[in-house]
Amino acid sequence: MIKRDDLLHQDFNGNKARKFYHFLETDLSKIDTIVSYGSNQSNAMYSLSVLAKLNNINFIYYTNHIPSFLIKEPIGNYKEALENGMQVIVGEYDKYNIDIQNLKTTLLIQEGGAIQEASFGIKLLADEIATYIEENHLDNIKIFLPSGTGTTALYLQKYLKNEVLTCACVGGDDYLKKQFLELESDEDNYPTILKKEKKFHFGKLYRSNYDIWLELIKEINIEFDMLYDPIGWQTLFYNQDKYDLNNILYVHQGGVKGNITMIQRYERKFK
Ligand SMILES: *Cc1c(COP(=O)(O)O)cnc(C)c1O
Repeated sequence: MIKRDDLLHQDFNGNKARKFYHFLETDLSKIDTIVSYGSNQSNAMYSLSVLAKLNNINFIYYTNHIPSFLIKEPIGNYKEALENGMQVIVGEYDKYNIDIQNLKTTLLIQEGGAIQEASFGIKLLADEIATYIEENHLDNIKIFLPSGTGTTALYLQKYLKNEVLTCACVGGDDYLKKQFLELESDEDNYPTILKKEKKFHFGKLYRSNYDIWLELIKEINIEFDMLYDPIGWQTLFYNQDKYDLNNILYVHQGGVKGNITMIQRYERKFK
């Protein structure tokens, strides 16, 4: 079973929409600028650009590097965020360098939306899943979703009775646990981290990632994101003897706008 959280809204979908939902429902009239940082094709960057545009406020985004082809011809999340009015600063984000006087009117968002406010929107996702479980008498089902910062998995586990399974896509398992700790001290609320078959470097191209991504389109006709989900599915298959796939609800967390550049890279490498 798959929870299609990618179909939430055309411009505001997937787990970043859930994470930033709090700000959609909050009065931001005293805020004039949103500041964040991260990679140049980040899904969080795109969703924040939508939020800034909706509220008619500035959005400043720090990123370490923008390749020349992307500057010449913007595509994907980067293109759409620029169209929404994002101002890009190439360089290291330094929270100590932000003008203190402006802090009251500036909303700082940690990379990837790893913020406590995210719990508000993720609780709504948990409630939807709980209703689905109840209506379909799926009491023993387990929930699976791949993690970056781990924010979504952590808060889902906090609000769901069913066990939440995840895997670390960005760093190792220890890094992911550290991320949980940043947001929540109660270890009873932590999701279960499944072991991966091998180590993946985030954003690097792997034949197996591309193959499983293509396979999912062919077999179930669903496009998944290419950074997290291929690792997620491989990890689920790897743990099949312990966790029966028929007993798993997989959460599709959106992010397919970022696929354009990944598809180009994969086709250049493997076609
Ligand atoms: C951001 C993102 C993730 C990771 O979410 P975290 O809450 O940071 O763990 C996973 N999948 C997709 C598609 C994403 O955009």
